Amino acid sequence: MSRWRRPLLVALAVLLGLTVAGHRVVSDVRSSAATSADRLPSGGPVELRPLTSDCSGGHVVLSFDDGPRQHTGELLDRLRDLGLTAVFFWSGHNIEGRGELVRRAVAEGHLLGNHTQSHADLTTGELPSGERVTPWGDAQIREELRRASELLVAKGAPEPELYRPPYGAVNQQVDYVARELGLRLVMSFGRDASDGLVDSHDTEGISAEEIAANVIGPMRDGSIITMHDGLGQATLNSIAALQPIVDAMNERGLCATTEVRPDATGRMLEPGASGAQVPSSAPKASANG
Ligand SMILES: [Zn+2]
Repeated sequence: MSRWRRPLLVALAVLLGLTVAGHRVVSDVRSSAATSADRLPSGGPVELRPLTSDCSGGHVVLSFDDGPRQHTGELLDRLRDLGLTAVFFWSGHNIEGRGELVRRAVAEGHLLGNHTQSHADLTTGELPSGERVTPWGDAQIREELRRASELLVAKGAPEPELYRPPYGAVNQQVDYVARELGLRLVMSFGRDASDGLVDSHDTEGISAEEIAANVIGPMRDGSIITMHDGLGQATLNSIAALQPIVDAMNERGLCATTEVRPDATGRMLEPGASGAQVPSSAPKASANG
């Protein structure tokens, strides 16, 4: 932000601090890594405006990929304080040692889905490290999905019924194996806006305001919104973006649901098609995917 706006915002924050009666007040999410543009000007408590919508405008699904990680507790706090429930697509390698977060998410009404064991590209076997599992076929795809589901169940979650392929990398073979395991595809992006899959682009180093704008613009009844529960400032910005998103939901009469509509495939798997269906413009490069 411009330097001249900061005194104005500090004054506004002080004013808000004086008018918190009747509203939920919590400490804002902050990090030592925060930039001045991302830090709350007051450094003090922030007033939250929870969801109060009457649902007359319909429902949206908020989804968060890649957790549980360092800021998952803060994300769960903010979702609770804003009156939101969400769908989480978690990876097995992040679940180890974080069973308490699995149980908390379930207890607070969230739905847990499968995001593979190793965050592997299910079409190629490429791991986040850049290494590639060889050979790569049905057995390896099945293992990636099966292990993550089993871990979620072992930590107290219901058997997952949804999966989201890392990087949006999916093809007929992957989906066939997933279906055999009782998993239904939920894509993170579609071919175009008509698919109702809203990508927040929150892994791309953008501000909370930009994340919120990416969501609020296309958000409507039936939208499935993709955000990330990843690492560092990107996730803090995603958490901070939830308030303006809730404000827009209240204005539009939208509520949050964890019931994912059956056509959440983003049309990536056309009947009869074979091979990878991810368009070349897909955000494959996203580190968090
Ligand atoms: Zn991912």
